[in-house]
Amino acid sequence: MTEAFSSLFLAALAATLALKLWLGWRHARHIARHRAEVPAAFRDAITLQQHQLAADYCIAKTRFGLFSALLDSLVILALTFGGALQWLAGIAAGASASPLLSGLLLIVGVATLTGCISFPLSLYSTFGIEARFGFNKTTPKLFIIDQIKGLLLGAAIGLPLVALVLWLMDISGPLWWLWVWLVWTGFQLLMVALYPTLIAPLFNKFSPLQDLELKARIEALLQRAGFKSQGVFVMDGSRRSSHGNAYFTGFGAGKRIVFFDTLLGQLDHAEIEAVLAHELGHFKRRHIAKRIALAFALSLGFLFLLGQLLDAPWFYAGLGVSTPSTAMALILFFTAVPAFTFPFTPLSSSLSRRHEYEADEFAANETDAGKLVSALVKLYRDNASTLTPDPLHSAFYDSHPPAALRINHLQGNR
Ligand SMILES: [Zn+2]
Repeated sequence: MTEAFSSLFLAALAATLALKLWLGWRHARHIARHRAEVPAAFRDAITLQQHQLAADYCIAKTRFGLFSALLDSLVILALTFGGALQWLAGIAAGASASPLLSGLLLIVGVATLTGCISFPLSLYSTFGIEARFGFNKTTPKLFIIDQIKGLLLGAAIGLPLVALVLWLMDISGPLWWLWVWLVWTGFQLLMVALYPTLIAPLFNKFSPLQDLELKARIEALLQRAGFKSQGVFVMDGSRRSSHGNAYFTGFGAGKRIVFFDTLLGQLDHAEIEAVLAHELGHFKRRHIAKRIALAFALSLGFLFLLGQLLDAPWFYAGLGVSTPSTAMALILFFTAVPAFTFPFTPLSSSLSRRHEYEADEFAANETDAGKLVSALVKLYRDNASTLTPDPLHSAFYDSHPPAALRINHLQGNR
């Protein structure tokens, strides 16, 4: 059983890596082949120079993604068969005789190790790629402050949560996975409720929308759609990046609408209204509630699975570990599972794209579809999103439909 599981895991890891490399290679090749010409539908709005900048940017990001995928697989091999987890478990067991404390130490050790590997990657992504294409606005100082804040926040929230989960796994009997699921679900809901007012302000400034004309326009739209919120806020996204966005956050009557200041600078009022109507569409069609319910159902399924693996010796031995423990089971599970779930990515992507079309239809009914089209074209242009993704790569990964299809759909070809 142990050897069979080892082989199965290695095969899944290799297949997942091969699939990632093949899709990324196809994507970069497809973009490069269409670099010489702006697609006909976009020739009025996007220059050849802008099109080529987007092509180079997307190819650079794709290549970086391939490198990260390769590194990721090597790290997983080093952790499991390379003995890194076994080594860390030895140190943690030596540091404390309490299983709960040594379990917590092991998880902190693994998080530190993987954090040290991902830090230079995030440094290169921000100051290498984003800066080279003119999108990065963050300074080294702000970057370091962000990292430290993230670390402290992760420790303040993560450590008590992990300790609680480990404790529940040890004391609550064969149905522990159900208890852990209840705690996890409650924690997620609490985060959604607290994020807009407690966490997001640690990283950004949120100020009420000042532009009265725009505000009146937005309020009229919200009223037409029967949407109650705690107000419309502008976030200083331009401190870190010139990429623009808009989103909803929070729960029930505590919902907020947040615009990046960069987005307000890019679009005119009618376009902003159309973008907001699209976001409202997600809300009105219950996409957000559906996504949350799906995530909860999946986490219940995965916790049940972990419940079956926790006491199986082949699960540990098959991944190169000889000292079973609850903390080790958690780590191995999160290390091994992505290799098996990756091939199912298109299911989630296609559900998301269906939701995007539905939100676009809502926006087209509530506002001017032509304005959403012109807003999207500006956003593709200013964010250097490729207009010519590889169709297979797009079907596999993309949460949003490709530019040409999406605009065609908005123009009434449904
Ligand atoms: Zn959307």
